[in-house]
Amino acid sequence: MYEKVKQFKGKALFPVNQFTIIAGPCAVEDEEQLVEMALFLKAFGVTHLRAGAYKPRTSPYTFQGLEEKGLTILQHVRARTGIKIVTEIMDASQIKMYEDNVDIIQVGARNMQNFALLKALGKIKKPILLKRGFGSTIEEWLYACEYLLNEGNDQIILCERGIKTFEPMTRNTLDISSVPIVKSITNIPVFVDPSHSSGRRDLIIPLARAIVAVGADGLMIEVHQQPQYSVSDKDETIDFQEFVSLLEQVQAIATVMGKKIG
Ligand code: PEP
Ligand code: MN
Repeated sequence: MYEKVKQFKGKALFPVNQFTIIAGPCAVEDEEQLVEMALFLKAFGVTHLRAGAYKPRTSPYTFQGLEEKGLTILQHVRARTGIKIVTEIMDASQIKMYEDNVDIIQVGARNMQNFALLKALGKIKKPILLKRGFGSTIEEWLYACEYLLNEGNDQIILCERGIKTFEPMTRNTLDISSVPIVKSITNIPVFVDPSHSSGRRDLIIPLARAIVAVGADGLMIEVHQQPQYSVSDKDETIDFQEFVSLLEQVQAIATVMGKKIG
């Protein structure tokens, strides 16, 4: 059993009663764009920026991320704006580089069961955001989390991001029930990513409302100044105006839930 998950007593990564938002483009594209984004987010009280430097793409022929250069850009954006950086790791050989430059290390859906990577990340003292594999059950996700806890890392965030079903209207199916299920088992914070689960820009705001209402601790979301020019995942990415509207609506529901946006 995943006993350490069940008995989790890690220190709180975020203030109690905070609904945390992690926002940013799918991929790192340009330093000035990210600085503008970071300042925009900070003006709305959002303290975490996401952007992938290394992108795990289904096709080897699509944009793979700016890689090391992308990580350097993130490092500059962090230094210039003070925003916290969340970005995905692909391989254990990158850990040192990530430890120095990143605030929360993301393990993507495709690596959820990369046990060698999980064991290595379990040995460091950095928050890990562990996404659910799109072909994984809730229990398999919790076992993956147990790998991190077993090695001693108790700074963990779980992130639901949808699962593969037979439904073609969305990219994946957002398994919203995983949030209260996981929360009934463990005190580990649970976030939800409506962007990768739906793959549809028009669904992001309604799903975000559901995510805060279902009791999640936070939201990870793709935002871009000009979504149509986003180098990856443009169909699910919202613009600044939509982001402001999302924040207003999420804030209203968060207030009912006794939470504040952070
Ligand atoms: C991402 O958040 O950039 C991403 C690739 O998501 P996932 O691993 O959930 O597909
Ligand atoms: Mn993406």
